[in-house]
Amino acid sequence: MTETPKTALTIAGSDSGGGAGIQADLRTFFACGVHGMTAITAVTVQNSLGVQGFTEIPPDVVTAQIRAVAGDMGVDAAKTGMLATAEIIEAVAETLDKVHIGRSFDVPFVVDPVAASMTGDSLLRDEALEAIRSQLFPRATLVTPNLDEVRLLTGVEVTDRASQRHAADALLELGPQWVLVKGGHLYTDPECVDLLSDGVQHVELPGPRYDTKHTHGGGDTLASAITASLAQDLGVPDAVAEGKRFIERSVADAYPLGAGVGPVSPFWRLRH
Ligand code: PLP
Repeated sequence: MTETPKTALTIAGSDSGGGAGIQADLRTFFACGVHGMTAITAVTVQNSLGVQGFTEIPPDVVTAQIRAVAGDMGVDAAKTGMLATAEIIEAVAETLDKVHIGRSFDVPFVVDPVAASMTGDSLLRDEALEAIRSQLFPRATLVTPNLDEVRLLTGVEVTDRASQRHAADALLELGPQWVLVKGGHLYTDPECVDLLSDGVQHVELPGPRYDTKHTHGGGDTLASAITASLAQDLGVPDAVAEGKRFIERSVADAYPLGAGVGPVSPFWRLRH
């Protein structure tokens, strides 16, 4: 018999194209050596050209998935991706408290506040942003917004390192323990500099900017790699540094697929 690996739970939407969402999370969990479990929140219809639509799963079915795995298999770390509606977010928040997942229970909880796909298609009903702010951020060990999500959540427009720091402070006021303000969408910067902060430590994480349009699922892959490291008992700064290394290699290995944007690839890890 083999030793049981650590477990990670993703609460997120399905991407029929296999590059983002639940599919990206499971690819990453597998490549990072943790057992991945899923609570599916929505089924999107999409390919490399964009999201054609989505149907959300009833909130009680979302929370039943969480309770089923937490009660029997145990969750070493959890993350959220696409949550679709305020009703799902509120039900998830309530259930996480019941099954003792989140920063107050010492089970790391990563919130990737997914609002739209990189093709510009909305993945969140309008009223749901406030639910992410009020219900999920206070329970989060770490939140990982990109710059578009930062603007939607805080109103802060990040244009340089100083405003990135200001954005981190504004996000911390919403209650998460740590924030990672991702700099990948600051295209005037030749590097991708992410800022990690808990209000005391401010760590700039520089990385190369790869010349590729194939970055579908990049945000999900980073958040999942961090979640996998947290499940394996790394602290937040180490888990984020590890996640950053993971996404850099995954972007470097991204492949074209379909006529639009191809997915980042976590498979490099399996070759070594
Ligand atoms: N589809 C689903 C289900 C997602 O969760 C996400 C991102 O979180 C996307 C699509 C968008 O991915 P990207 O912005 O990398 O295209």
